[in-house]
Amino acid sequence: MECPFCGHLKAHKHGCTPKGHQRFKCSKCNHTFTDTLDTLYYRSQLCPEEVHTILQSHSEGSSLRGIARISGRSFNTVASLVQRAAIKGQMMHNQEIQSVDTDEVVADEMWPVVQKNRNSVPLRKSSEGTAGLQ
Ligand SMILES: [Zn+2]
Repeated sequence: MECPFCGHLKAHKHGCTPKGHQRFKCSKCNHTFTDTLDTLYYRSQLCPEEVHTILQSHSEGSSLRGIARISGRSFNTVASLVQRAAIKGQMMHNQEIQSVDTDEVVADEMWPVVQKNRNSVPLRKSSEGTAGLQ
């Protein structure tokens, strides 16, 4: 197996995790890792079904404290999982967006921001030679 840290091709088996995942160790950089590296399950005590339930509850609008109370997990566990999922989703989104070939961009979602900023621009006095924004 290839080492994800240094790219060395001869990472070998190095026992199992307490959850039963195969652990690998790189003979070049001595890092240990599992096949769940770079996923939401890496070094997590949550099972995939629990991760799915927590993220689905969050996407449906449940509060983090509510999810923690219902799932029986701590608030920090739930918040950490949601944050890691958000970062992972943002990274995947950014990779996909860069590969989109387009000449035009429609930015309808930006109008509330523009409207808000238009109201927050300070008006200049008419004595400065310009008419203020209206
Ligand atoms: Zn390595």
